[in-house]
Amino acid sequence: MSPEHTRILFERYPRLLGDPQMMRMIECGDGWFDLIDRALAKIEAECPRLATDPNYKGDLPTIFRIREKYGTLRIDVARETEAIARMVAEAETESEGICEACGAPGQLSAPEQEWLYVRCPGHMGKGAYGGGGNTAGPTRGGPVIWFCGDVHGRFGHVVEALEVTSLPECPAAVIFLGDLEPQEPLTKIFRRFLDAGVEPYFIHGNHEPVNADVWQNTLDGWHRNIHGRVETIAGVRIAGLGGTFRRDIWFPDHADMCDPAPKYETYDAYVNQLWPKDSARNIMLARQYSTAIFPAVVEELSRQRADVLVTHEAPSDFENGFAVIDDLARSLGVETIFNGHHHKDLSSSGKGFKAFQVGLRGIRELSGGIIRLGEPE
Ligand SMILES: [Zn+2]
Ligand SMILES: [Zn+2]
Repeated sequence: MSPEHTRILFERYPRLLGDPQMMRMIECGDGWFDLIDRALAKIEAECPRLATDPNYKGDLPTIFRIREKYGTLRIDVARETEAIARMVAEAETESEGICEACGAPGQLSAPEQEWLYVRCPGHMGKGAYGGGGNTAGPTRGGPVIWFCGDVHGRFGHVVEALEVTSLPECPAAVIFLGDLEPQEPLTKIFRRFLDAGVEPYFIHGNHEPVNADVWQNTLDGWHRNIHGRVETIAGVRIAGLGGTFRRDIWFPDHADMCDPAPKYETYDAYVNQLWPKDSARNIMLARQYSTAIFPAVVEELSRQRADVLVTHEAPSDFENGFAVIDDLARSLGVETIFNGHHHKDLSSSGKGFKAFQVGLRGIRELSGGIIRLGEPE
């Protein structure tokens, strides 16, 4: 839900919803704002009665989560009474007929659909958050975002592609899918995009720590790394998971190759056992493994919601992919994954999301359309 609508609900129902910091966000589209507003008003009105009821003991009910699940609304109440459970059930049932994107009358997508959602005819097949949706072909009228495969030190092809693209196909943002290996400070490289009115973002791959200089150049633009978080870019919520699975840290899903149990939960846990800290070897290892994927990061990210997931590693649909990435995509509720790393152009669907692997210096746009094919190795 948009920050404005979220803020209104927190202002109207401070006792029920509590500290805005405690609830990351209301995890559904703006189309359900009125429905939620009405439900919370009813629940709140029930509470003064409870406060004077001699049979009611303990604290008054509060709400700890509001979200979309399996297509419809869920309101999770702590210390729920029977009457409140009925109000919640009514609101949840009502959500089956309200478009989550705009609030117009809608219906639940057919059960054979990969993804369940309630949409009006105009939003059927589209995301609730202004995302690319499930429509095929280039986005028409929606936000334009480019997803750039591994560039390994060269950015000229993206600048050239921008030069030959005119509005409205011109992207609002470009997102690099790792292995940037910047040969000069990243802020200097990104300045060219910002000057052209394009917001650059990235996730790291596994090649940025090749040497201290390239690493330093990468750290220079680190504030534009969306690894481990969800950033709203051009109105689309993009979750980032940079880096690769490493045998010494965590290498899930391939029990035939490596013990899938994590050896370290966090980067700190890994670095803390390196001793002495200042030996050349340990400094190198600390740099090297800062691009590994740690379980705690995936766990934390999986509790959020997003429209698109960008990763360096591949989901399991592709060769050398990982089911952990599929699970993350499903927890986030994304419609699309873009990944780099393997230097191949591939696409797939059928696991509840669309997956696009972007080739070496390849570029795809939000709905998966190819802007620039990957280069041969
Ligand atoms: Zn690469
Ligand atoms: Zn890579």
